[in-house]
Amino acid sequence: MTFVFAPPAAPSVDIAGSDARFPVHRLYCVGRNYAAHAREMGMDPEREPPFFFSKPADALVPNGTAVPYPPRTTNLHHEIELVVAIGRGGRNLPVAVALEHVYGYAVGNDLTRRDLQFAAREAGRPWDVAKGFDASAPVTAIRPATDVGHLSHGAIWLEVNGKPRQRADLSDMIWSVPEIVAELSTYFELRAGDLIFTGTPEGVGALERGDSLVGGVDGLETLRTTIV
Ligand code: MN
Repeated sequence: MTFVFAPPAAPSVDIAGSDARFPVHRLYCVGRNYAAHAREMGMDPEREPPFFFSKPADALVPNGTAVPYPPRTTNLHHEIELVVAIGRGGRNLPVAVALEHVYGYAVGNDLTRRDLQFAAREAGRPWDVAKGFDASAPVTAIRPATDVGHLSHGAIWLEVNGKPRQRADLSDMIWSVPEIVAELSTYFELRAGDLIFTGTPEGVGALERGDSLVGGVDGLETLRTTIV
């Protein structure tokens, strides 16, 4: 087969303790999956359940890499999140078997142009320009569930320039990991290689050029990012 130009490299993520890489199919994200974050966004988590959006797979940024401050925003925000790596696909998965489809877990940052997100929200427009920009998805190496187990509780946190910004517990999630996988699989056929950003806790805030971000989830790699 010939192509009219070289096809782009397939996005992939490191696997902790392995030379093999995890080939990425799609990036799905959950919105407002922590009640305190939904409230800080001006929403009522009792009345509006979490929901899904997505980012392009080539928005991934490896751990330890500098992220350029993106254009068309003056309010770039961090969102530290647990990331679920799907190892076996399926559709309409029951909650009871959903974890059998999870390969492992990573730590990600759902970088957001908050000013564009609020403008889109007010106008009833899509979130793509707010969420799916280039280099908007820093992520650590994946730890396989065979090593770390399945995560349902434990600290999730982010510091910016050594100061605490976000801290919560995975048990604060409105939808648990198996509930997210099951629900998402009713909208899309899940495929091996899908990554799911599971939502951010409270404490999101603005970033500036030169900021140094360190974030984590108990049991997983530490995510280190600088904004340049
Ligand atoms: Mn998010």
